[in-house]
Parts: sequence; C-alpha cells; structure tokens
Amino acid sequence: ASLRENRAKYESMKWAGLPPIEKNFYKESARTASMSQEEVELWRKENNNITCDDLKEDEKRCIPNPVCKFEDVFEHYPDIMANIRKVGFQKPTPIQSQAWPIILQGIDLIGIAQTGTGKTLAYLMPGFIHLTSQPISKDQRGGPGMLVLAPTRELALQVEAECSKYAYKGIKSICVYGGGDRKGQIDMVTKGVDIVIATPGRLNDLQMNNFINLKSITYLVLDEADRMLDMGFEPQIMKILIDVRPDRQTVMTSATWPDGVRRLAKSYLKNPMIVYVGTLDLAAVSTVQQKVIVIPEEEKRAFMHSFIKSMKPNDKVIIFVGKKLTADDLASDFGIQGIPVQSLHGNREQCDREQALDDFKKGKVRILVATDLASRGLDVHDITHVFNFDFPRNIEEYVHRVGRTGRAGRSGEAVTLVTSNDWRFASELADILERANQVIPDELIAMAERYKQSQMRKENEKDIQRPWRKPSK
Ligand code: ADP
Ligand code: MG
Repeated sequence: ASLRENRAKYESMKWAGLPPIEKNFYKESARTASMSQEEVELWRKENNNITCDDLKEDEKRCIPNPVCKFEDVFEHYPDIMANIRKVGFQKPTPIQSQAWPIILQGIDLIGIAQTGTGKTLAYLMPGFIHLTSQPISKDQRGGPGMLVLAPTRELALQVEAECSKYAYKGIKSICVYGGGDRKGQIDMVTKGVDIVIATPGRLNDLQMNNFINLKSITYLVLDEADRMLDMGFEPQIMKILIDVRPDRQTVMTSATWPDGVRRLAKSYLKNPMIVYVGTLDLAAVSTVQQKVIVIPEEEKRAFMHSFIKSMKPNDKVIIFVGKKLTADDLASDFGIQGIPVQSLHGNREQCDREQALDDFKKGKVRILVATDLASRGLDVHDITHVFNFDFPRNIEEYVHRVGRTGRAGRSGEAVTLVTSNDWRFASELADILERANQVIPDELIAMAERYKQSQMRKENEKDIQRPWRKPSK
C-alpha cells in the first residue's frame, strides 16, 4: 500500500506544474448543424459506408455530424483553406469528413479507412489547429507539441513531407528515424521543433539520452497503429508514453484492425470514438482489380518475367517478396538483363533506401522490388501494378500491399502468385476476392478446401492420441 501511495505521489509530482491543455476548437457550421438525421445517415452511407461508435463506457456522447465541405470545418482558419485551395482538393474524403469534427472537439479517435483515402491529413489538420491554439506560446512550451509515431522510416519521411507541405504559421516539423543523421536530428530537436514524426526505436534512443523533452506533447498520433503494435514495437511505445502526459489527445489510424490490436489500443486512448469507413472485415480497395494465380514455386520467376515484358511504358510496379535475399536476388536478375530496377528492404543502408524510393517516385525506374517494409502507407500516386511474387505472412499485409495501387480514386491492378505452401491463406483470400467482386480461381477454392480437410484430420488425430479430450466438431 505504501508503495502504491508513493507511486501515486510520484506520478502527480511528475505532471505537476504543466500548463493546461486546450482541446476543443470545434465550431459547427450552421449547415452542418442543420443536417437532419436522414441527411446524416445518407451522407455516411454514400461515403463508403461510414460507421461510428462511442467507446466511452457509461453514458454515450453524441457523434457529431460529418462535414460535407472543407469550409464547414476550416472557415475560421484561412491558412488551412488557402493550402487546400492551392492543391485543388474538391471535398473531404469520407474519413476526413467524419474524423475532423470529432478530433477538433478534443475527443480521442480510432480512425480506420482504406489505404489511400487521406488519413494523414485527417489527423494533421486538426493537429495544426491544436498546436497553434494552445493557451501558452511555443517558446513557453519547452519542446514539441505534437508527436506522430509511424512503423517504418519511409512512412515517417512521407508524413513529414505531407506535414511541411500543409503546415503554416511557421510550424516546424522534423523526422526522427533510425539510419538518418543522428547528430543533425539531435541538433534540430534541441533547437526547438513543434512536430516530431518518428519511428519508435530512434525516438527511444533520443529520449533515453535526454535529447528530447516529451512532456510538452499534447497531441499524439499512432499512424498504422496495428502494424506498430503487432510487429513488436509495443515495448518501445510504452517507454515513450511514460514521458508523455496522460491528459494528451490521442489519435490512432490504420486500414486494418485485427482483434489483438483492438484490445491493446484501449490502453493508449481515453474514452475514444471509433470511425470506420467500409467494413471492419478485411477489405481491399475497390479500385484495384485483383488477379490470383495458383502456380508451382519453380514457375514463379518465369511468370514474373513475362509479366514485366507485358508492361506498358507508363506502367509502374512494386514486386513484393518475402525475404530481403529474394529482393536482392530478383533485383540483380533484372540488372543482368539490363532492366532498370530499385530494391527496398531492411538490410540496405538508409541513404540507399531513400534513393530507391526517390528513383521509383520520380520514374527513373518503373520497377521496385520490395519486402513488406513498403507495404504500409507509402503513397506513390502512379503505381499501376502490385505484383505479389511471394504471398505475405499474413492476410492484413495482403490488403495493405494491394492498397499501394489504386490510390486517391485511380484504378490499379494486383497480381498475386499463390503456391501450395500458401494454402493456409486460401480461404481468407477467397473471402476478400469475393467481397470485392473479383474472380476467384477454382484452384484457390480447392486449395482452401484441402486445407480445411487437413486441419480436420489433424484435430482428429489429436483426439485419437488423447482420447480424454472432448471431441471437436
Ligand atoms: P492513407 O494514409 O489513408 O493511406 P494518405 O494520407 O497517404 O492516405 O493520402 C493519399 C493521397 O490522397 C495523398 O496524396 C493526399 O495528398 C491525397 N488526399 C488527401 N486528402 C485528400 C482530399 N480531400 N481530396 C483529394 N486527395 C486527398
Ligand atoms: Mg497513411
């Protein structure tokens, strides 16, 4: 009991003297306020089926109406409106339309929506407003006010680029990531920045060495949260959160939301609302045509080469492989044939990784061979094809890979090679194809059936070996 008392005392001391946080900046426009219940429901339905829920346990709060136009949320923020006009966006994406009024009220949010539907700006815009509307000034704050955690360096860099593109009022952001220039990052961080976008590992490093003050953070984002949590970043995130004040606002986003993560997410958020666009079942983007080819392992290479030969001059493809070695192997294969490619995987030097992505973005190469390092979040708008040379290690990753094409309303094509080794995924893959109205190859259905039979056989054998076990159905 005395330990507990001490702990509570220590906790309250640790957070004593911090300035109050202002969180609610939402002024509902007259038009949004005047929407009838039917109009709200229709809008949600027509915008890819937006569903919302309040996860607060006791009494449920009212879910705000979605905003149909940028002016409905940002009319009091001319700088934001100017930025939006500059890039020429027509209207908020579904996730933005529902997430903005929630986040701007200071409510924690879990935002789930298809890849390529503008989740980054869904959390960045309210973040900018939050930052610039605090009762104390930036200089009094003594450190960054907003932190975005992302699972890969490339994604962190991309978020940072989006951030500097739209930020205003001299908001400074920095990307802190492993492999990057550590000293430069330390200099920047200590000079005073407003937004830190980081991979958990490098941030831990700066935090442990007292190069960064995290107590000033009042707005926290976990982008691609499920990936970070289920790929083992949890201990690092926990360490980071020890130094982030508990009364902050927290936003989590992702395109998939597996069960295991739902449970974990609870400990990071306070009374959040959840918004999901589409369904919470795995759903691949509807703008991508998905082809699945069941093929023997030894024929995969030949098939891939004939696929590459059939590419048109403006096509751009990511070839996903399972192992770093395979990536190198395929890349050098192409090199020997005089086909320019780049490769992206965790064993390459950071500067090579950045160069690879840059070459691919700018179209210096039209083929990128990559591991799942590239499956999440990356926004290269003109990728026309995703070629899954190896099937990913879980079905969520399949959805994310497919989402690298068909972005922001364009169309794309995904080709996936499936061998008998991948049979455990056959049934889930068939479900995804069915939901997206795609052709399901007969071989895939047969494979799913064989897997089911074999699982049942295994169960039965277990029962025979351990007859005291209750028979399974
Ligand atoms: P996600 O994180 O959901 O996968 P991103 O945030 O990377 O998607 O956004 C994908 C692309 O859509 C980006 O290039 C972004 O600039 C663009 N975008 C964001 N908001 C809008 C909008 N309201 N209208 C059109 N394009 C948008
Ligand atoms: Mg994203």
